[in-house]
Amino acid sequence: MSQKFDVNFVKAQKPAGGIAVVLQAPEAIGAPGEVDPAGVVAKAAEIGRFRAKALKTLDIVAPHGSPFDRILLLGLGDLAKMAAHDWLKAGGAAVAKLRDSESVTVYLDAAGVEVGGQAAADFALGLLLGAYRFETYKTKKDEDEPRTNNKKPTKVTIVTAAAAAAKKAYAESEAVASGVLLARDLVNEPANVLGPVEFAEKAKALEKLGVEVEILTEREMKRLGMAALLGVAQGSERPPRLAIMQWNGGKPKDRPVAFVGKGVVFDTGGISIKPAAGMEEMKGDMGGAAAVIGLMHVLASRKAKLNAVGILGLVENMPDGNAQRPGDIVTSMSGQTIEVINTDAEGRLVLCDALWYCNDRFKPQFIIDLATLTGAVMVALGSHHAGLFSNDDTLAARLTAAGLASNERVWRMPLGKEYDKMIDSKFADMKNTGGRYAGSITAAQFLQRFVKDAPWAHIDIAGTAMGSPTDEINQSWGSGFGVRLLDELVRTNYES
Ligand code: MN
Ligand code: ZN
Repeated sequence: MSQKFDVNFVKAQKPAGGIAVVLQAPEAIGAPGEVDPAGVVAKAAEIGRFRAKALKTLDIVAPHGSPFDRILLLGLGDLAKMAAHDWLKAGGAAVAKLRDSESVTVYLDAAGVEVGGQAAADFALGLLLGAYRFETYKTKKDEDEPRTNNKKPTKVTIVTAAAAAAKKAYAESEAVASGVLLARDLVNEPANVLGPVEFAEKAKALEKLGVEVEILTEREMKRLGMAALLGVAQGSERPPRLAIMQWNGGKPKDRPVAFVGKGVVFDTGGISIKPAAGMEEMKGDMGGAAAVIGLMHVLASRKAKLNAVGILGLVENMPDGNAQRPGDIVTSMSGQTIEVINTDAEGRLVLCDALWYCNDRFKPQFIIDLATLTGAVMVALGSHHAGLFSNDDTLAARLTAAGLASNERVWRMPLGKEYDKMIDSKFADMKNTGGRYAGSITAAQFLQRFVKDAPWAHIDIAGTAMGSPTDEINQSWGSGFGVRLLDELVRTNYES
């Protein structure tokens, strides 16, 4: 259980004990003499050389003569240069120092500058994201561990002149937080608990938010001809599922936008088995599906005014006696045949049927797929950008802009017929790997063969969905990457 918060926004507040968070400068604390009657905060700031640099803090315990038990000074740097995601980071930096607290008052309007309702809501969103911990399976708590099992939420009062606007904006922030935290929970959850069937149930649970959900079983997928997806699943005791979620917040005849997620609940590599070292991380090979379900949760929670489809291909890649072999040839739903060279290149086999189905049934405005698809993308970009591949310049530009705004950044990589040629097969229409070089590009070329002319983007999140470096707003192994990126994309470009 992560720390819970009860967040309120007010225009003014008499100092009332607990912790005060004061942004930027001691004088932001309100009426002179009210909070810092003896001038100790100002003096401590001077002695502690607090210069209000971005995300730098000074913790002042039990200041003499102050009504607060603690005063936390938090710097913001140059206010004029702050982006939305800097406010998120400020909230995250604050919450790192606030764990184990019952009552917090945040004096937001830095040094007399009114920061506005959106910034206040973003700060609060940063608190929610930064406080997240996955501790479901920790039965013992360290003495100095924060009190995250506390059932009582931390009461946070944010003091700002823009309280009314902040309250309104915060309703959306809460929706975003719930989607990101859902995605993180799913990535962190071990595969023995979260199989394809259990994951599909998580999608089904979105019905309570007004999402229409269909779950296809193995039999129905067989009837649709999804032999590429089914071939991956056949080495596992646990049957596959295809989850189809529809959020209808737009006009009935509006074409939907569509998101497809790779949901390999565990990837052993199959018969082309992976080495033991680090294999446990393959419980996160459903990070794409987690982001898509998280996004659908956000869209439904904030009642987004558009039609959106989310499709999850849910399988487990295991090497039992029934597992597919290298050299096997499968016929995808599209009718195109695929020679399986490497059973560890399974994500594209799952996605190709899900993509084809999505385009065929919904004729969407665009399709974006998210997948922890290739190690090669980590070689190219590390953990600070996801790889973006697209057949549509407008969509690619919008995703890049949404990445900069949300700080879930993407970097566009090339596609081209020379790369496409690398996956031609001797025995079938294509093979599922293109060899060692340009591995993330040939994976994207493979997917492109299943979207016809639909505007499409593929986002390879192998380096960003899990195990990426933690920061102010993410202390978790599973990051929830993609939820805020796609919510930003939709909000900015596709809502009426
Ligand atoms: Mn694999
Ligand atoms: Zn995989």
